[in-house]
Amino acid sequence: MNGKLYVVATPIGNLEDMTYRAITVLKEVDLILAEDTRNTIKLLNHFNISKPLISYYKETELIKASNIVKQMEQGKNVAVVSDAGTPGISDPGEVLIKEAIKSGIQVVPIPGACAAINALIASGLDTSEFLFIGFLSTKPKEKKDKLEELKNETRTLIFYEAPHKILNTLEIMNEILGDRNISIGREMTKIHEQFVRGKISEVIDNIELKGEMVIIVEGSSKSETDVAREKRNNMTLEEHYDFYARQGYEKKDIIKLIAKDRGVNKNEIYQRFI
Ligand code: SAM
Repeated sequence: MNGKLYVVATPIGNLEDMTYRAITVLKEVDLILAEDTRNTIKLLNHFNISKPLISYYKETELIKASNIVKQMEQGKNVAVVSDAGTPGISDPGEVLIKEAIKSGIQVVPIPGACAAINALIASGLDTSEFLFIGFLSTKPKEKKDKLEELKNETRTLIFYEAPHKILNTLEIMNEILGDRNISIGREMTKIHEQFVRGKISEVIDNIELKGEMVIIVEGSSKSETDVAREKRNNMTLEEHYDFYARQGYEKKDIIKLIAKDRGVNKNEIYQRFI
């Protein structure tokens, strides 16, 4: 019979956030895969867990996954943990989980800490709908392009960021997304846990640039109609005309619509098309 793959969340700072179930599972499996064995061994020692431990990080995921799947096919139960928080969330795990599913192996999530969700719930921003982005690219152009793509997203946005990059990221966000409300969850669950909330410009002035951080950004307040209108207004008059012509409108109606979109008198538009 196949073994199971347990995806085990571990604390993001405070060891008391380790769940009873996580401890039981780690004590019972045959093998533990760890992102960094030096890190995980400290956690295991703290909870008196002694099990074979092998390193399993993003760069080796593909190479190691098939061998681990074979071991589960031979009946071994395996647990995967990351350095902190939930595996698979900006951490290794996804490749192995996909391979396990392909081979018909049962994947069992063991819930626990996740920095993104904890930063979100304490942010005071809208939690009804949100979009997890994780780390932005380190390449300036890709980073800006991604933020441009997200500019009109109305759901709350969640980003992970390294402390030495936080200032640059906040400045670019301010430039591209505008001076929105954000909340930074810093060093969550640790002694110096802090939440810095306010407009991006205010947070830039108040944030301490060290420790682990999650940035929660208020979604765009623009409605889809505003965005569509803005797009139309950025068109040349000819492009604007074609936009409505393609939808089958007659010339006189197109002129009225363009005038309304641009907030000008229809005669002004009419003159341009004579
Ligand atoms: N898988 C992890 C999880 O479930 O939260 C995330 C791993 S990701 C490699 C690490 C990033 O998570 C950090 O750069 C930071 O943005 C965020 N993070 C992790 N622990 C944190 C903490 N205690 N306080 C604030 N942010 C944290």
